[in-house]
Amino acid sequence: MDAVLERYSRQVLFRDIGEAGQRKIMQARVLLCGCGALGSALADGLTRAGVGFLRIVDRDFVELSNLQRQVLFDEQDIAEQLPKAIAAGRKLRRINSSIEIETLVADIDHTNILKLFEGVDLVLDGMDNFETRFLINDAALETRIPWIYGGCIGSHGQTMAIFPFETACLRCLIEEVPGPGATETCDTAGIIGPAVNVVASLQVTAALKFLAGRRDLIPRR
Ligand SMILES: [Zn+2]
Repeated sequence: MDAVLERYSRQVLFRDIGEAGQRKIMQARVLLCGCGALGSALADGLTRAGVGFLRIVDRDFVELSNLQRQVLFDEQDIAEQLPKAIAAGRKLRRINSSIEIETLVADIDHTNILKLFEGVDLVLDGMDNFETRFLINDAALETRIPWIYGGCIGSHGQTMAIFPFETACLRCLIEEVPGPGATETCDTAGIIGPAVNVVASLQVTAALKFLAGRRDLIPRR
């Protein structure tokens, strides 16, 4: 196995990835919307797996109440008053310096969503609200770029891989965008770390299948 692949040898040995799949993963470009609890776990998984390019967008700063579940951050990030995207980028580059990581401290809205989608193969949802998820959904339909929905609250969560015009999309599943305050959030109902990690693991699994060229293995529900 050549030196570049050696780092990923354990997943290259895995039958359904192999050398060909790993080379695809290393050339893949992913947009990660949100770098809180789900986003941290997603970014960690994709970075360790060797996804070639990661664009991370988040508007928030690291706070003490994040550390219970947001695995990329620590007390030093709070002391330095770092935005999550910046703290995540710093940590992720220490984990894997061979991939390209672009970090943006920004609110995702209708003015920048299509720009954020530029040049990526896949979009991962690490958001905490439905307004942004519907923006992601509509941009995915417009650009035909697949995205992987993920959501978590309390001790449970949901995830689904959405392939535009192939699977149901978020608007097929939820007809009306719930207004702000209409649904419970982690700020009102709480959230436990294990629930986040389960949902993020399922999202990363679907992402690796897709990026390794095995979209046939991804559940369509
Ligand atoms: Zn739809």
